[in-house]
Amino acid sequence: MEELDAPLAPLTTLRLGGPARRLVTAHTDDEVIAVVRAADAAGEPLLVIGGGSNLVIGDAGFPGTVLRIATTGFALDGTALELAAGEVWAEAVARTVDAGLAGLEFLAGIPGSAGATPVQNVGAYGQEVARTVTEVVAYDRRSGGTVTLGNEACAFSYRHSRFKAEPDRYVVLRVRFALEDAAGRSTPVRYAEVAKHFGVAQDERVGLREAHDAVLGLRAGKGMVLDAADHDTWSAGSFFTNPVLSAGQYAAFLAVAAGRELTAPAYPAPDGGTKTSAAWLIDKAGFGKGYGSGPATLSGKHTLALTNRGAATTEDLLALAREIRDGVRAAFGVELVNEPVMVGVSL
Ligand SMILES: Cc1cc2nc3c(=O)[nH]c(=O)nc-3n(C[C@H](O)[C@H](O)[C@H](O)COP(=O)(O)OP(=O)(O)OC[C@H]3O[C@@H](n4cnc5c(N)ncnc54)[C@H](O)[C@@H]3O)c2cc1C
Repeated sequence: MEELDAPLAPLTTLRLGGPARRLVTAHTDDEVIAVVRAADAAGEPLLVIGGGSNLVIGDAGFPGTVLRIATTGFALDGTALELAAGEVWAEAVARTVDAGLAGLEFLAGIPGSAGATPVQNVGAYGQEVARTVTEVVAYDRRSGGTVTLGNEACAFSYRHSRFKAEPDRYVVLRVRFALEDAAGRSTPVRYAEVAKHFGVAQDERVGLREAHDAVLGLRAGKGMVLDAADHDTWSAGSFFTNPVLSAGQYAAFLAVAAGRELTAPAYPAPDGGTKTSAAWLIDKAGFGKGYGSGPATLSGKHTLALTNRGAATTEDLLALAREIRDGVRAAFGVELVNEPVMVGVSL
């Protein structure tokens, strides 16, 4: 299916962005590959989109081909799961819980497609796909063939992967996961808020369905479950990643926070770094829930979500994002980095 001068805003959860010169929807892997090959052969810019839940598209739109991936396929073989890239992630997660398998239950309610989950190593509530992905089948635009990348080759890290590092190289076709039959229990609880919710210690297991449903409840309370009637969910989820500070940066940050009699959240990160909370920084820099009076504001439920109140443009949203980034830098000396992918714009 092909459309010219097609509006992209309705294909994003922010409802923002100008038109695509050409929009093609692909329903099979062969169609996906054919569209990508044709665009590459013609030297045509290409943007791959799934659920549009992690995209900030400029008001000028996209001057090339936008490929919307709508492939389907959910195949369970024992505890091995294979998803086609176009599968709706939250529905696939719910089906694994129905099948009694653990591994994805804390990733309930995250919008978007299965194929995008390895791209930023989707994670929430103590789980991330890096833990369960065994293989990603992708079309490699450099070699012009299909490749199968094992978990190591995906180079997963916090909200990052090889696919994000080389954004114009791979188009994900299928994602394979190893799940766990834990007799109706979840994977061990790793997130303090979830442990508190269930009144268990971290690393204990809870009921699988209870875990899934509890996460949906916690997410809804933060405006993190899509609801077309609720502008607090017209967002791209968390707009900024949690900063990971080096030892020197962390020491400087602690001194600034102490000067303001604040104790910042801190979690150990790989390579001796310390992760702190972007939501906390935003709040303490003076941008509380609901901040802003224009057409783009912070969510009334979560300081990390920048939202379109209905009439915003991408420039309105970016102006708010820049104000917050600059305010946090001025207050704490910490540089916030955007999580969503920017198309034709930058912060
Ligand atoms: C309310 C809300 C809550 C959210 N909560 C979370 C959360 O808890 N944790 C989290 O990690 N994220 C969260 N997100 C962000 C987002 O849902 C995830 O990043 C999701 O995986 C994006 O999927 P998508 O299909 O919508 O990707 P899109 O937004 O369509 O695309 C995102 C990027 O991935 C690329 N891409 C998409 N599909 C493919 C493919 N098949 N092959 C190659 N590249 C591809 C695109 O080109 C683009 O660069 C949230 C978003 C919203 C709106």
